[in-house]
Amino acid sequence: MVAMHCNPDRHSLANLQFDNAFVRELPADPERSSDPRYVFASCYSHIQPEPVAAPKLLAWSPEMAAELGLDAAAMHSEEMLEALAGNRLLPGMQPFAACYGGHQFGSWAGQLGDGRAISLGEIINAQGRRWELQLKGAGPTPYSRTADGRAVLRSSLREFLCSEAMHHLGIPTTRALSLVCTGEQVVRDMFYDGHPEAEQGAITCRVAPSFIRFGNFEIFASRSEHEVLRELAWFTLRRDFPDLCAGNDKLSDELILSWFSDIAKRTANMVAHWMRVGFVHGVMNTDNMSILGLTIDYGPYGWLENFDPDWTPNTTDAGTRRYCYGQQPRIAQWNLMCLAKALAALMQAPETLEQGLQAFADSYSQAALRMTADKLGLAQWQAGDEQLIATLYPLLQQAELDMTLFFRRLTDVDPQQPDAAALAATSYREDGLAQHGTALQQWLQDYAQRRRQDAREHHQVRTQMHAANPKYVLRNYLAQQAIDKATAGDYSEIDKLLQIMRKPYDEQPEHESYAAKRPDWASNKAGCSMLSCSS
Ligand code: AMP
Ligand code: MG
Repeated sequence: MVAMHCNPDRHSLANLQFDNAFVRELPADPERSSDPRYVFASCYSHIQPEPVAAPKLLAWSPEMAAELGLDAAAMHSEEMLEALAGNRLLPGMQPFAACYGGHQFGSWAGQLGDGRAISLGEIINAQGRRWELQLKGAGPTPYSRTADGRAVLRSSLREFLCSEAMHHLGIPTTRALSLVCTGEQVVRDMFYDGHPEAEQGAITCRVAPSFIRFGNFEIFASRSEHEVLRELAWFTLRRDFPDLCAGNDKLSDELILSWFSDIAKRTANMVAHWMRVGFVHGVMNTDNMSILGLTIDYGPYGWLENFDPDWTPNTTDAGTRRYCYGQQPRIAQWNLMCLAKALAALMQAPETLEQGLQAFADSYSQAALRMTADKLGLAQWQAGDEQLIATLYPLLQQAELDMTLFFRRLTDVDPQQPDAAALAATSYREDGLAQHGTALQQWLQDYAQRRRQDAREHHQVRTQMHAANPKYVLRNYLAQQAIDKATAGDYSEIDKLLQIMRKPYDEQPEHESYAAKRPDWASNKAGCSMLSCSS
């Protein structure tokens, strides 16, 4: 939504109920400056957002606002704009930056923390749900190290849109309330190659029931600060997993194991969804893994276009491809192992956590099979179906078929008379499929035969497949087009994409062009096929 002048509805802003449990119950860093430093035995530092020169509301999510009880007038009020820009605090806000560590690209990186995220407080909405508000890009904190605590428009816009797009796809994620540009410049060397440039600054207000990450636990275990580790674990269980911890009055091995298994299952479900829609997170470091199994920290993420398990959008990871599409389940499990090592310090018999890792493997396989059956429109997975998949994936890769379009168009295949033409047209190959055309036709025959075995009504299968295969995803080039326009001062495309991504499984024939294959110009363009951690 483009900012307009409306009468501020102070009523709905004043109604926001804050209950800042994290700040109230956990140990704080006694120092209050933003000077970079190591912070010991504390879960967070008090810090004020740094005001910006000329904030402007570029976009906001109506669904997220409604969840918080905020109407359009409240979102467009001067008070709200200032709060979303970090220029003022609303009554009840107690800003802080959390201390956490993490394993980055497979190695322990020590203290990281909210270097450019400042939480404002926890809102309890009218339904009793807890939502923490966090500004990303609101200025330096003790965890900023040598960086500036700011964020650029391109990365903020990508985080804003993708958070909401993922939510509407039915994928667990942190949310986004607003996107504000700051009217200030931020200098970034996008590809770390000695070409720094001034870019427009922006702030996203993201929202989640909890922003606690695996790394919040790892930092205390790494420093043998076991008392704080225990406090944080007990706090997280009570605040974020109340059902699990009901009936317990303290931590026990059994409780930690059931908690860890729950985290493992949530993580498995999240990654299975990523794989279903072709999402590549890009930086699956343990500081970017949510304890609630939410997709968090949208940076150099991307969406598969031509199906390629080795693909990663992140140029920083181009050498090893640790975080490419096909590795995501394995990496999630590795990250859970890091969390298990941290929680082990709280247990008498930590080896039982192995069961939690097994819970990840089991949940992931189950979810992946169920989702694959849905993508293919099979009533249920049955013996022999692995063969169908074992042939399909290499074919998708070699024939360079667009993952999203392929699965969506598969819905229209008539099992009585399967025709590969519409599927073949999703290929990015210039040679018109050459030898892969025959393989595709053969696979389709086998698939059609399998579908005939189910003997279900076409409309039933179609509903199942459409619900598993989105037509609209936030393709990298679509986000980049919105960025290019926004950089030139035209914010209309943000709103348009937000509208379309609200109903990703619907046909929306009026927006057909947004479901198109990646255009040629985007295949080697920064922001479309190449992204970096610089944001
Ligand atoms: P990321 O790779 O975005 O997950 O960031 C890793 C760590 O670097 C986190 O602790 C961030 O808070 C921090 N960080 C990233 N960019 C900045 C920045 N511009 N200013 C301060 N800290 C940053
Ligand atoms: Mg991060």
